[in-house]
Amino acid sequence: MSSAPYNRVALIGLGLIASSMFWAIKRAGIATEVTGYARSSETRDTARKIGLCDHVFDTAAEAVADADLVVLCVPVGAMGAVAAEIAPHLAKGATVSDVGSVKRAVIDAVAPHIPEGVHFIPAHPLAGTEQSGPTSGFAELFDNRWCLIVPDAGADADAIARLAQLWRDMGAHVDEMEPDHHDLVLSVTSHTPHLIAYTMVGVADDLSRVSESEVIKYSATGFRDFTRIAASDPTMWRDVFLSNKDATLEILGRFTEELFALQRAIRKGDGDHLHDYFTRTRAIRRGIIEAGQDTDEPNFGRQTTSQDT
Ligand code: NAP
Repeated sequence: MSSAPYNRVALIGLGLIASSMFWAIKRAGIATEVTGYARSSETRDTARKIGLCDHVFDTAAEAVADADLVVLCVPVGAMGAVAAEIAPHLAKGATVSDVGSVKRAVIDAVAPHIPEGVHFIPAHPLAGTEQSGPTSGFAELFDNRWCLIVPDAGADADAIARLAQLWRDMGAHVDEMEPDHHDLVLSVTSHTPHLIAYTMVGVADDLSRVSESEVIKYSATGFRDFTRIAASDPTMWRDVFLSNKDATLEILGRFTEELFALQRAIRKGDGDHLHDYFTRTRAIRRGIIEAGQDTDEPNFGRQTTSQDT
């Protein structure tokens, strides 16, 4: 066992991210006890059945008692109410963190409930899948992914360092970012792309009703990749858009302008515009591969016997 940054970690909400954290902590071999709580008895029963957490409690109050780190792993819109529920039961000197995909709204909702003598250090692991629930997690989810720590001004340096150490133990790279900047960057890299995928799949769904499911039957990789993203949890993503409204609307505005420019180029037969644009965007993909954030294998390394594009 290597040294652990915390003696007891409490995970509140037991879905994809919390269950991946638990398996990653256990894989790291650090001597940290992990307690858990989820609001539904069904999720708690499943967690107990699959050995998710060392102890699953029936109340959030019991789960956080004596924890030196409490991580809120619930949808962004539920963070404030959960923080209010656990606040009276937090140990002095403990750290409260979260994994929410939006940071300013979570800070505004949670910070007022954090008692004197307890640290609040928000964070966001940039890792996920379209799966959700207690059985969807796996230890490797955070490997080689970024976890952004988003402390408010004046946050305790030692509390930040301990949280960063835990994320490194779970396989992630760690960086710090300012909350509003985080929300703008994530709006570009994650939130707006999800909205576009939801829209494209919605359009295809409308069309498939008139084309007798040919859209599904002959779906090629471009559309299939959109459907994977658009299968993401509806509650989580509803909350992301409602709580990162300004940045999403800003990026959607820019997206619409670019889309109109491409639409005009197609109508006018302006091949140079299209070619220049696609050459620029291709370089972005190369940058992501060089940064080690995706594979350069064809078709994302999927096993296929034929080329379908
Ligand atoms: P998930 O698999 O859907 O699990 C959500 C958990 O939160 C469940 O245990 C659920 O309880 C609980 N919950 C839902 N609504 C609640 C409410 N109103 N009050 C109290 N508990 C509630 O979600 P996840 O993917 O782990 O996401 C958790 C957090 O991580 C979110 O804030 C999300 O923004 C963030 N995040 C997600 C991803 C991703 O790709 N999925 C990536 C990075 C960060 P029950 O099971 O009892 O219903």
